[in-house]
Amino acid sequence: MPTTWGGWASRVSAYVKQGKELLGQPRFPVRIAEIAPDYSRNVFPNEPITLVRGQDFQGKFEGALVPNEKRNEWAIFFDSGHASKGRINFSQAHEFGHYLAHRHFSGQPFYCSRRDMWGWDTAYGQMEAEANQFASFVLMPPDDFRLQTADFRRPTLAQFEPIRQRYEVSLTAAVLNWLKDTKRRAMLVVSRDGFIDWSWGSEALFKSGVFFKARQMTIQVPDASLAALGRRSGLTEIEHAAGIWNPTEPVFESAVFSEYHDMTLSLLIYPGSGADQWPERSEENHGIKDAFKVFQRQL
Ligand SMILES: [Zn+2]
Repeated sequence: MPTTWGGWASRVSAYVKQGKELLGQPRFPVRIAEIAPDYSRNVFPNEPITLVRGQDFQGKFEGALVPNEKRNEWAIFFDSGHASKGRINFSQAHEFGHYLAHRHFSGQPFYCSRRDMWGWDTAYGQMEAEANQFASFVLMPPDDFRLQTADFRRPTLAQFEPIRQRYEVSLTAAVLNWLKDTKRRAMLVVSRDGFIDWSWGSEALFKSGVFFKARQMTIQVPDASLAALGRRSGLTEIEHAAGIWNPTEPVFESAVFSEYHDMTLSLLIYPGSGADQWPERSEENHGIKDAFKVFQRQL
């Protein structure tokens, strides 16, 4: 049996791929509610998942993983108040990840809120991050995701719309999955009422010293940003000169204003910062370097 979230994610992903091939069905979207009960019964016949059901959590939780009294059956609950199928599917996958990788560590039911689930930067803890990584891998397997995003040079949030539909995930989940692996300097900023709620940057951006400490301090979005202007700007993308999002660099911003009612999502793409940031190594890196030169010229 696998002992890590990654081991379980590979197994489940292979199971889904083979199963769908046998049935002659399309591989995507992967729907956890259809998979988790059968899969868990096969692997853990003495404590399977026997229920996947919506419940009104009144906005407090996205999902929960709960055993019965005898601890020989488990249920995945999700917040039935959500209109978004993508969020529901992702929450179910997240709880399925807890079931496979964590249920024996905790001994307690898992109740997962959005803030906890998306606090990928250590705020809540390792298990939340792992459950998200599991969900991202199973719903958006790396082999297919790379193909779907291969031509993303300077993507806008609109370009993630077909990705979100293909995998039946939220826009946030699709963008974070891209940021996790991209070599580009990019960041997702989630803001509300003109302030940054949280943000997540790619590794390349973080290493270049660009990040926001929105958890530690209150940070206002720039006045000229789409995050601040909202719908009334009539724009969904804009090329900012240096001095707006970043004091010394131009930034390409695209925004979506409505995914979570009062939330604004901004995807920020920063320019590449020269050859020193992309050391020799592989063919791929040379390709990226070239792409960045073109990109910088465009700016
Ligand atoms: Zn969780």
